[in-house]
Amino acid sequence: MTAAAETQIQIAGLGRIFPDGTQALEDVSLDIEKRTITTLLGPSGCGKSTLLRLLSGLDTPTTGSIDWRNGPPQPGEIGYVFQNATLMPWASVWENIYLPFRIKGVSRNTASEAIGSAIQLVALNGFEQHRPHQLSGGMQMRVSIARALATSPSLLLMDEPFGALDEITRFRLNDELLQIQSAIGCTIVFVTHSLYEAAYLSDQIAVMSPRPGKIIETRNVSLSSRESSIRSTAEFAELCGTLSALLSEGDG
Ligand code: ADP
Repeated sequence: MTAAAETQIQIAGLGRIFPDGTQALEDVSLDIEKRTITTLLGPSGCGKSTLLRLLSGLDTPTTGSIDWRNGPPQPGEIGYVFQNATLMPWASVWENIYLPFRIKGVSRNTASEAIGSAIQLVALNGFEQHRPHQLSGGMQMRVSIARALATSPSLLLMDEPFGALDEITRFRLNDELLQIQSAIGCTIVFVTHSLYEAAYLSDQIAVMSPRPGKIIETRNVSLSSRESSIRSTAEFAELCGTLSALLSEGDG
């Protein structure tokens, strides 16, 4: 994180109990700085998706608060990417990315520049008229990311976006995501259960444990480089070792 860090979202004492009595989150507090990547890292069922849904406004907390420092987000200011690309199979890449504009009643002409930039950002130029089934899993996910970014959200929520991809594609998309984030400077909250992915991508990692879902530790990360070669360094191994120990502690 830079010295000029500026808080975008302050989460305080957040809890979520579902109507069936399941306590998905308990007393979660976290500050999210502008233009950084925060990762929610933890095993399945520790409330990561619940926390993303609360941030997106799709769900409301039972206790606690989410304070948006510059006022609550307007529609379109939050982008959401899921594990499955969730594309319309009958529609072209271009039409899929146009969807959020169509929902807002923006014409194709007006949206076309933003759609062109989003396609450029995820390097899918030349594939505008392809249908999803003509693309690899990694390319489908890039369409999904372009769709989420096309409306220039100030916050991008990503729920295990690369979990269904093979490792080589996943590594490549990790690098692309870092490039995209530094190019457009949006804030990202990223959910993963891979500690290696968390270590590679994050400025801040919130390590979570289940039953009920809690943050057991929040860690700032400042690796000396964000290039693939960092994965084979002692520095990276040490960070992964620490995260691994925290995760097993939370499991105990
Ligand atoms: P994660 O994303 O970390 O896998 P979730 O946020 O999906 O975890 O779920 C946290 C816990 O809340 C789990 O035990 C899950 O079964 C439960 N849960 C999620 N949604 C609901 C719901 N709508 N009603 C009841 N329980 C739920």
